[in-house]
Amino acid sequence: MKFFVFTIFPHFFDCFKETGIVARGIEKGLVSVEAINLRDYAKDKHKTVDDVVYGGGPGMLLKPEPIFEAYDDLKRKGHNPYVLITEPWGRRFNQEFAKELSEKEEVLIICGRYEGVDERVKSIVDEEVSIGDFILSGGEPAALVIMDSVIRLIPGVVGDENSLRVDSFSDGLIGYPNYTRPAEYKGMKVPEILRSGDHKKIALWRRWKQIEYTYKKRP
Ligand code: SAH
Repeated sequence: MKFFVFTIFPHFFDCFKETGIVARGIEKGLVSVEAINLRDYAKDKHKTVDDVVYGGGPGMLLKPEPIFEAYDDLKRKGHNPYVLITEPWGRRFNQEFAKELSEKEEVLIICGRYEGVDERVKSIVDEEVSIGDFILSGGEPAALVIMDSVIRLIPGVVGDENSLRVDSFSDGLIGYPNYTRPAEYKGMKVPEILRSGDHKKIALWRRWKQIEYTYKKRP
């Protein structure tokens, strides 16, 4: 799977690409993440990517030309990505959305900045996506969130695929509680059943906890 990101801050993605599961997925050749600097596609000598808003009002907007130029360049190189743009009012991102994206071959995420992007950019966009009802100062943190959750779902990226199966939201329930050593800490004990070695009972207990916790925390 290939991710492309249009951004004016490509270095935002360096640490992301170098770390943990994402880095492993890239190393294994299962996914690539290419942050494309919109400034490289600005035509004027000052490499301007933003401009004032028609009709007045505060702030600046990302200009259409660098975005269209960068998109045309991707197309010329033979790519045909599914195109997302980050918008606070977009389709709310969730696990189901992540699953849908994990089945695409190529995804482009256009990151807004300032007051957002020129509306004409929407003519190349398949979906607007939001990571929640709050305002970020740019689409980059949203793109990180989206890519991280999608990359986990690409077969082979997460070492033990069973861990995907028990992730919260994978079957409508949240995850069960887990413990590690020591068996007792500050007077708090690990539930006896988890130390019993009875795998049938443990599975049942975990299922019950998933139902209980879903009811309590996410009814
Ligand atoms: N003035 C705009 C907000 C601009 S925030 C408004 O009132 O709606 C700057 C950019 O950050 C946006 O263009 C968008 O790309 C990104 N962004 C902000 N909040 C976001 C969110 N909750 N989810 C996804 N992207 C967001």
